[in-house]
Amino acid sequence: LPLVVALDGPSGSGKSSTARGVAARLGLAYLDTGAMYRAVTWALLQRGVDTDDAAAVAAAVADVTIESGTDPAEPTIVADGVDVAVEIRSDEVVRHVSPVSTVPQVRTHLVDLQRQVIAAATPGIVVEGRDIGTVVATDAAVKVYLVADPEARASRRAAEEGGSDTAATAASLLRRDRIDSTRATSPLAKADDAVEIDTTFLTLDEVIGQIVALAEE
Ligand code: C5P
Repeated sequence: LPLVVALDGPSGSGKSSTARGVAARLGLAYLDTGAMYRAVTWALLQRGVDTDDAAAVAAAVADVTIESGTDPAEPTIVADGVDVAVEIRSDEVVRHVSPVSTVPQVRTHLVDLQRQVIAAATPGIVVEGRDIGTVVATDAAVKVYLVADPEARASRRAAEEGGSDTAATAASLLRRDRIDSTRATSPLAKADDAVEIDTTFLTLDEVIGQIVALAEE
């Protein structure tokens, strides 16, 4: 069985850099499930689907194809045959991704794919998202839930986005958190058996080191 490290938490808690770092240190694959939700959102917007119309989203998602490359040094994301690594970071996709993620058919479609990738990973995989420890990989050997102060999350994300406005970034993160944590299906939540790490005052290397230590226990 593959070693699975499940890494959940809100937007901007440092999940992606942490997950890639842990995967590189342990020689594991890496799966960014947020990129999959973003890629589906991109594909639906391409098709002109109204993302606030849950029935239309549910009907369209079945023929969207998503392929995730799991090398932590160079993760890739392809939707309907198109490399969308850049497109999925656009403001337009960010605005629409949380409503799309609330649609149950979107979640079952992607959770199935995620479980296939996890099952095929040797010797294991670090999976980041919102529902990995609670839904996708409930038997993961290591479960971590990352949290950070909202200001720390917003300033990190604004820096990643090349110095965009921190106040606007904070508003966008809080809006996504609210939708992600109050939706009916698989809301963002800490699994009972997850270890919570507050990254506000830790460096990236410190967070990676703590998770590597958990995996090596
Ligand atoms: O992690 P990232 O910010 O790329 O996730 C984008 C969005 O995808 C989240 O705001 C959330 O709505 C959705 N998501 C989800 N379940 C996951 C990963 C992401 O609903 N496992």
